[in-house]
Amino acid sequence: YAAKHTDAGFLFYDPKTDPHTQQRLQLSSDLRHALERNEFVLYYQPQINIHSGRIIAVEALIRWNHPEHGMIFPDQFIPFAESTGLIGPITEWVLRTAIAQCKTWQMTGMEMRIAINVTARSFQDPLLVDKLESLLYGGGNRLPPERIEIEITENILMVDIEHGAKAIRRLRDLGVSVAIDDFGTGYSSLAYLKKLPIHTLKIDKSFVMNMTEDDNDAVIVRSTIDLAHNLGYLVVAEGVETRDALDLLAVLGCDLAQGYHISHPLPEDELILWVKNSAWSIGESA
Ligand code: C2E
Ligand code: MG
Ligand code: MG
Ligand code: MG
Repeated sequence: YAAKHTDAGFLFYDPKTDPHTQQRLQLSSDLRHALERNEFVLYYQPQINIHSGRIIAVEALIRWNHPEHGMIFPDQFIPFAESTGLIGPITEWVLRTAIAQCKTWQMTGMEMRIAINVTARSFQDPLLVDKLESLLYGGGNRLPPERIEIEITENILMVDIEHGAKAIRRLRDLGVSVAIDDFGTGYSSLAYLKKLPIHTLKIDKSFVMNMTEDDNDAVIVRSTIDLAHNLGYLVVAEGVETRDALDLLAVLGCDLAQGYHISHPLPEDELILWVKNSAWSIGESA
């Protein structure tokens, strides 16, 4: 796993910082150039079906390969991009790249789904569905919309539930599914989400990482899986770092697992090798 956390401290987003400081201006200008200069790269982290042991999806995770500061992780620039409006073109780049990648895999027989993260602003973009549609159907070969899952956090929905519900319904009408990411860290409850046509619930890694040591976390994971299943959602556990955690998730009936125990996020070429050589081979979708 080549990517290391950067020590480029000045790039950290700090909401307390005056928006007009030199650092923010520098970051903003660097970010603009990042797109022009092709400095973004997508890494892909496998999701396996816990019961069949097979890879059925990947999550696309953006990195910024900064010429001076090295690999910069999304938590250090996505919130900034969101707050400044730079997120629009970044999201478009992510969607275009991820969908093109998925089409390429499809041509070589790798029929994996791809999960793509979007921020509140991008999710609320009234053109999101149209953009997805033209990416899926454009450029010669078609990608079935069922291959795409859009990940949003629960807090996006809390801002405006009506609007959020409408946006989810339009995606579902297109055939694209929606996952709630980092579930358990926000302010919503399953009772609140149950009216929404969500497909997948991703249990936040903070609960999964400690579940074999911390009984409270294990209880949270167990009850989230049960409630989610009763509401008809597919459940993904993220942050699966050990064999013990994976075994416990299997006992609890969790559907999919994602985490360092299975694989770190990988650049495209390494992902291909991983898929070819690892014990988890491509399987039917869940
Ligand atoms: P996320 O969507 O919840 O992604 C999961 C994060 O957990 C990733 O961090 C991943 O590398 C990390 N992770 C995976 N397995 C494990 C594990 O076993 N243990 C631990 N401790 N961590 C694990 P990453 O790649 O740094 O991404 C951070 C966040 O940035 C993502 O959280 C997502 O919210 C956001 N993000 C990533 N890519 C994009 C993107 O293309 N667009 C947008 N809007 N946001 C993105
Ligand atoms: Mg995610
Ligand atoms: Mg998450
Ligand atoms: Mg997260």
